[in-house]
Amino acid sequence: MTTKEERRAQLTGVYREARGCPRCPELARTRTQVVFGAGNADADLMFVGEAPGAKEDEQGIPFVGAAGKLLDQLLGEVGLSRGDVFIANVLKCRPPGNRDPLPGEIENCSDYLMRQVELIQPRVICTLGNFSTKLLRGDPTGISRLHGHAEILVIGGRAVRLYPLFHPAAALYTRSLLDTLRADFARLPALLALDPPAQPEPPAPPEPAVPEPALAAPEAPPPLEPEPLEPVERYEPPVPEPPDDRQLGLF
Ligand code: SF4
Repeated sequence: MTTKEERRAQLTGVYREARGCPRCPELARTRTQVVFGAGNADADLMFVGEAPGAKEDEQGIPFVGAAGKLLDQLLGEVGLSRGDVFIANVLKCRPPGNRDPLPGEIENCSDYLMRQVELIQPRVICTLGNFSTKLLRGDPTGISRLHGHAEILVIGGRAVRLYPLFHPAAALYTRSLLDTLRADFARLPALLALDPPAQPEPPAPPEPAVPEPALAAPEAPPPLEPEPLEPVERYEPPVPEPPDDRQLGLF
């Protein structure tokens, strides 16, 4: 059992690993920065969107544009703020021109998301839109059929209630989607008030190895005369640049 301070320290380690991530060569070349996620590192409620857009890429914070303002507003309507939740995306880097994430990029990045879930330990995860819903359910069923219905799934080794929602960006332009998103949001406090789902049993520890019977030791070779050593030039390692930890203040 780890404390929340230990889990936050481990989350910081995952962030430090992700911020120089080269796994998607095109995204690593074109991004301004990795947008790891922001909010309460011990949140009961986590949101997972699609990928950073231009503003997120510039500021290093998820959901800072018009869709982010709508998300803030909907959170406020159910008595929550960003400080109560953790917000992340399926991809941590902006796809150029805001194109859709590619399957290989989603696969590359999903390990960071799983580790975020494992360390933040949310009780409820709201997927926002199709990409995160399909990834975390491991199923191609679309958001139109699934929104507003919670189900218990094991994600990142944790049992959580997954609650798919329309992406706020889609609701910005369609009044009926906004009404639906608002109605789905209104059920969040009741979902959060439920007892947390029972956690899966941890895997059994491996059986102890049976020691092999000792073999007779081979005869030792005669000692060698030591060769005189050439003096070598002392290697001075380069001093690393101080890291930019601005995003760490966000969780
Ligand atoms: S999208 Fe994810 S996996 Fe791909 S380069 Fe960025 S951090 Fe790495």
